[in-house]
Amino acid sequence: MVARLIDGTRLGREIREEVRDEVRKLKLNGTNPGLAAVLVGDNPASQVYVRSKIRACGELGIHSEEIRLPVTTTTSQLVEKIAALNADEKIDGILVQLPLPGQILEAVALQAISPEKDVDGLHPMNAGNLALGRPSLRPCTPAGVMEILRREGLSLAGTQVAIVGRSNLVGKPQALLLLQEHATVTICHSRTKQLAEVCRRADVLVVAVGRPGMITGEFIKPGAVVIDVGINRLSGEALKKHLTLDPSLNDQYEKNRKEGKEYVLAGDVNFLSAAQVASAITPVPGGVGPLTIAMLMKNTVQAARQRHGIAA
Ligand code: NAP
Repeated sequence: MVARLIDGTRLGREIREEVRDEVRKLKLNGTNPGLAAVLVGDNPASQVYVRSKIRACGELGIHSEEIRLPVTTTTSQLVEKIAALNADEKIDGILVQLPLPGQILEAVALQAISPEKDVDGLHPMNAGNLALGRPSLRPCTPAGVMEILRREGLSLAGTQVAIVGRSNLVGKPQALLLLQEHATVTICHSRTKQLAEVCRRADVLVVAVGRPGMITGEFIKPGAVVIDVGINRLSGEALKKHLTLDPSLNDQYEKNRKEGKEYVLAGDVNFLSAAQVASAITPVPGGVGPLTIAMLMKNTVQAARQRHGIAA
């Protein structure tokens, strides 16, 4: 079997078009949605992520502000900035780009964001409402995975789904969202025994571990749908090793090299091996990534609507 490729770039574009339409309608009613992205320090990957979020806002007509704080920022300085954004009428959504420098207490910072402006869905109030099955702002990446499954026409009720990873950012909210769609969900992590065997029972396998190429064909039930959330930037020795383990990375490597970039982005799934067994699979890049940004835009519009009491 050779798996069908799920085109996350196309799906992300589709959602962005829908959001653009909604923004246009909101503006006609005098509401101009706004997003603030807070970047602390100079982590190069975070800079790229924030830049693409700000660019997406521009393309969809969403007002955006990028707030850069020095790497030496303290928790209380960040909380003070967040408080100012909570009170800012132009801002409907606040995102604090993770990871934060080590001296900042991440939980304190995330809890300082007003739950109604928490477009990353990581505030305990939104996380709790999600667990209770109540309306809330949903974390963008797992919400993006749900959009992929829905737009691919997958009926989840009664299916076995395994998630590898139990982070607050991806694995846990993913499990809750899938449960709401009546899937039977197994959450795996670093202590799971016989991981490959557990994964092989799944009709849908969602992988978010942060370990390049860890999931091979032997973890996959023939015909299963595989969603690879992982984004791992490989260079140097790691890159050499993975080019051998997954030659499907070669095309991206050649393309990047021509642009002067000596790295590739690899998923947590060994694409070449998994694609021989799965029925459909998301690539990296061009799979879940574009959905994450699209869902952030969608959440910003949802937050604006809720703040101004405008029905969907
Ligand atoms: P994380 O916080 O580091 O969590 C990783 C999870 O994987 C943990 O629950 C860990 O288990 C589990 N794990 C690690 N090694 C394992 C092993 N050998 N076997 C089974 N489970 C193992 O990572 P994250 O924030 O969820 O991110 C995961 C990946 O997704 C990363 O590559 C990240 O870059 C990517 N990501 C992508 C997007 C996107 O937009 N596409 C967004 C967010 C994250 P324990 O809990 O037992 O330690």
